[in-house]
Amino acid sequence: MKISEFQKQIEDIYFKKDSQRGIEGTFMWFAEEIGELTRAIRRDDDRENLEEEFADVLAWLVTLASMKGISLEDVAKKKYAQGCPYCNAVPCTCS
Ligand SMILES: [Zn+2]
Repeated sequence: MKISEFQKQIEDIYFKKDSQRGIEGTFMWFAEEIGELTRAIRRDDDRENLEEEFADVLAWLVTLASMKGISLEDVAKKKYAQGCPYCNAVPCTCS
């Protein structure tokens, strides 16, 4: 699944609800999910939970981008397709 396809899927599932909640409330959910991912990484004993938390953080990030009218695929390509945005190398050679 491409990033744009994932963003569309999350929009189809949640955009109406998320729009009604507003960006501030949605950002609070994103922050909550970051906390859950933090705990899952720290515990490091439940692979399935870790995978779910990564998926949740990505979904909330995508939702925030959609609410701001941003295509995550476009901005990711724009910034990183040529390599490190500062030294343009892959891998990065910045000191
Ligand atoms: Zn670099």
